[in-house]
Amino acid sequence: MAISKVCVVGSGTMGSGIAQVSAQAGYETTMVDIKQEFLDRGMSNIKASLGKFVEKGRMKQEEMGETLARLRTTVDMKDAARDADYVIEAAFERAEVKLPIFAQLEDVCRKETILASNTSGIPVSLLASATRRPDKVIGTHFMNPVPLMKGVEIVRSLLTSDETLSTSLDFVKSLGKETVVVKDSPGFVTNRIVTLVFNEAAKLLEENLASIEDIDKIEKLSHNWPMGPFELADLVGIDVVVDLLEGIYRETGWERYKPAPLLKRMVEIGYTGRKAGKGFYQLFAQG
Ligand code: NAD
Repeated sequence: MAISKVCVVGSGTMGSGIAQVSAQAGYETTMVDIKQEFLDRGMSNIKASLGKFVEKGRMKQEEMGETLARLRTTVDMKDAARDADYVIEAAFERAEVKLPIFAQLEDVCRKETILASNTSGIPVSLLASATRRPDKVIGTHFMNPVPLMKGVEIVRSLLTSDETLSTSLDFVKSLGKETVVVKDSPGFVTNRIVTLVFNEAAKLLEENLASIEDIDKIEKLSHNWPMGPFELADLVGIDVVVDLLEGIYRETGWERYKPAPLLKRMVEIGYTGRKAGKGFYQLFAQG
């Protein structure tokens, strides 16, 4: 199936990044959110990111203009999705938020439209159950920050068709990304691993084993990580980390995924990381 129009649901950290790479790759892209102010924030993130590419000589000024011209925003789901060929949902990581979106997309979209989710761990089959086209529902798990990170996990549910899989692989590759196909299981591959790193790092901090600067420093120097666990958690969002851990814990019952109390306390007091302007580094940095 040829794709020319893309709809991205949610204009937060991930939605705005996905809309950006889609428009950069030449697709007419519409971003939809529940409030205009969220869309405006998403657009300003996109402009800042494209601006950096131009500044670094990785993109021409006119390409930035052309990319922005391919982007549209709306608060009206019907307007956003009715003529889309490919929809990527990137709303909050909660089934009670995503399920009604998939039900709405089922009503609004043409019957051949593929409905993808950027979920980090909610079963794709569950999202598919809100539609009458489970064969056309798939997971496309982009990484943060989307314009820079190459990897995308493609999550195939028990009901995803071969055609949906192959169209999705081609589409995601056309955005300049590399793909890996994984089974529809809690946390997929990436989040089974990285959430444990976040959880253990928070436990180290609770035990006062070392400062956050030192924990980040030794991990970067020892394992060649570009960011330490706290820097990465602040980037991802502590609320997202807790949602991910709780999601895997709920599905599997594995104790190691029970969120460290510190992570939950940080969310309760609004220290959710970079997007809130306050996270691990504002609370615990010693230097
Ligand atoms: P975010 O909180 O930054 O943004 C979510 C956006 O969705 C918000 O702007 C919100 O207003 C919007 N939204 C909520 N309900 C909506 C609705 N009914 N219709 C339209 N828009 C709606 O979240 P995020 O970090 O961008 O995460 C989005 C998804 O991507 C989640 O499923 C998350 O697990 C996944 N993800 C996040 C990361 C990360 O590092 N943050 C990485 C990979 C995947």
